[in-house]
Amino acid sequence: MQNRITQLFNIRYPIVQAGMIWCSGWRLASAVSNAGGLGLIGAGSMYPDVLREHIRKCKAATAAPYGVNLPLLYPNIEEHIHTIVEEQVPVVFTSAGNPATWTAKLKEKGIKVVHVIANTRFAIKSVEAGVDAIVAEGFEAGGHNGREETTTMCLIPLIREAVTIPLIAAGGIGGGKAMLAAFALGAEGVQIGSRFVASDESSAHENFKKVVISSREGDTQLSLKQLTPVRLVKNRFYQEIAAAEARGAGADELKQILGRARAKKGMFEGDLDEGELEIGQVASSIRTIMPAGEIVKEIWNEFKEEKMRICSIQADFN
Ligand code: NDP
Ligand code: NDP
Repeated sequence: MQNRITQLFNIRYPIVQAGMIWCSGWRLASAVSNAGGLGLIGAGSMYPDVLREHIRKCKAATAAPYGVNLPLLYPNIEEHIHTIVEEQVPVVFTSAGNPATWTAKLKEKGIKVVHVIANTRFAIKSVEAGVDAIVAEGFEAGGHNGREETTTMCLIPLIREAVTIPLIAAGGIGGGKAMLAAFALGAEGVQIGSRFVASDESSAHENFKKVVISSREGDTQLSLKQLTPVRLVKNRFYQEIAAAEARGAGADELKQILGRARAKKGMFEGDLDEGELEIGQVASSIRTIMPAGEIVKEIWNEFKEEKMRICSIQADFN
């Protein structure tokens, strides 16, 4: 199958592995790219020298296209941009910031640019900034999230109506059935995060991977809306934030409780009580830790089988 997303990135399947802080280093990105999807290195948690190391290791581990996710909130963004250009990274996904700032500069260097949005206003802003494609990420997603709380089911048709450029759906997608549903809503590709956290190659701590595969419905919640909204597992740290919010704590107090490097503590160092554990709602249907390449294959096969099944139902209706 070829479509605008596979052609844009020169990949086999329109499946993108989300760039996730502390979880997606070069091992995961290269495994996904080797399997025919697009693997992304999550640069938000990497110091500039660490990002360079991951890009080089990724290039050595795969000849296939790969990319870097760059949260625009990152403190030393100019250094990251410099590294990305110097290392000739073919694709950059930007998120959490204004796409107008870096898109033209990256595109000038021949880099494909995709921006992650959670509402129509930012989708239009991304088109105006000249991005090659958009990721529309719904409320179900893990990590940073939109304030409007629009679910993927509502968001994708809205964005499809608003823009004509290639569209990738994210949030709540962990398998081929959800991928097919996203295509029915107007998406041409999917970005998947949580499912790849539970992969052999993910750099998430084993403790966190075990939390992901044992998650049940209702185990995550969108939190810290006064700062940057983020979907978290309801662990001890989350409860502390929720209690502070319930008694009316302001942004400054929440920042104090949050402190520094909570995400690293939880997801990379495996402190399940004191750390921030960012994962999507779809964790509740993830049961096993698998090699990333097998995850890509499984999603693609399920997508094809489900498409056939739906076609046969439609035939019954004729
Ligand atoms: P390797 O698998 O080869 O080695 C892991 C490295 O991480 C080792 O240097 C190890 O140090 C270090 N490490 C292990 N646990 C922790 C921890 N809890 N806190 C800090 N460092 C730890 O690494 P890769 O080639 O996969 O990665 C290279 C670099 O990238 C490393 O510095 C790693 O920390 C970092 N990284 C960053 C990610 C991110 O999202 N920011 C994701 C993945 C890796 P030691 O030998 O002393 O145990
Ligand atoms: P904190 O301010 O709490 O901590 C900074 C963390 O980032 C530390 O763990 C630090 O590692 C690491 N880091 C990497 N590079 C730098 C740098 N140049 N300066 C300072 N710290 C650096 O931030 P968070 O952990 O909450 O978030 C870090 C980044 O991840 C931000 O850019 C944020 O926008 C992004 N993010 C992206 C999400 C997404 O969904 N894409 C979700 C959440 C955050 P060390 O401890 O080794 O010093």
